[in-house]
Amino acid sequence: MKILNGKKLADKYIRILSRQVATMKKRPVLAMVLVGNNPASKIYVGRKKILCEKAGIGSQIFTFPEKTSEKKILDLIGSLNKSRNISAIMVQLPLPKHIDKDKVIEAIDPRKDADCLHPLNFGRFTQEGEKYSVVAPATPLGIIRLLEEYKVKIEGKNAVIIGRSNIVGKPIAQMLLNRNATVTICHRHTKNLKSYTQKADILVVAAGKMNLITADMVQKGVVVIDVGVNRGENKKVFGDVDFKSVSKKASFITPVPGGVGPMTIAMLLWNTVKLAEK
Ligand code: ADP
Repeated sequence: MKILNGKKLADKYIRILSRQVATMKKRPVLAMVLVGNNPASKIYVGRKKILCEKAGIGSQIFTFPEKTSEKKILDLIGSLNKSRNISAIMVQLPLPKHIDKDKVIEAIDPRKDADCLHPLNFGRFTQEGEKYSVVAPATPLGIIRLLEEYKVKIEGKNAVIIGRSNIVGKPIAQMLLNRNATVTICHRHTKNLKSYTQKADILVVAAGKMNLITADMVQKGVVVIDVGVNRGENKKVFGDVDFKSVSKKASFITPVPGGVGPMTIAMLLWNTVKLAEK
């Protein structure tokens, strides 16, 4: 079994980005919008800020209380769109229920859409592949780069994805399909999940359920990508995969933490720099 070391690869990308940023006339700046008190969201935004600094990217965090009106957020997005100092914008999800997340995402200028969530970017990415779109969804892009780094073959493989969210499941399915994998997407309504996971050569798990995948559900030699972030006892972080048992059967596996998480942030910064270059 080999560990897919996302932390190490993310550090490498941060170094590449910092060299690139040093040559740019204008420093890229990422605006981050955080609404409410979700503790995980606060941690993520804090981490993004630290890595921005490491890469030489500027960052601005706009924090709002839970009860902030939708209009206030839309107004802020409008002014960030116009600001010549801001290269990229990301809105930390989830947003409070009274705010229409789709409306907020669509308000972002597609030329500043760091998460590739705007329908124009997402559509372009889906229809034409990520080579034709300036940005790509950060988590899936990070996963693909990780697979490439460890020379995991994708073509002709059975890729099984658990979860169908717009930020992970759907776009990673697309990227694996573009690379000639045979892709199956499982979700909450899938009957007999095990019958699918057992056929996986590459298994991507993004369901948000601790221990969803156990050793009996995978075949020997499987490549496991664990996107889950779950808080267990003592606030320790666990993925969706029972690492201890599954890693014994896997040929490659991502740890949690230190796998997909750091790569996601590195790719968000990658998108930021690409948008700033345009
Ligand atoms: P993320 O943003 O990390 O992808 P979401 O919370 O948006 O996660 O989505 C979770 C996804 O996981 C959904 O698509 C849901 O259908 C799937 N899912 C949740 N629980 C299970 C389960 N027990 N079996 C299979 N799929 C599941």
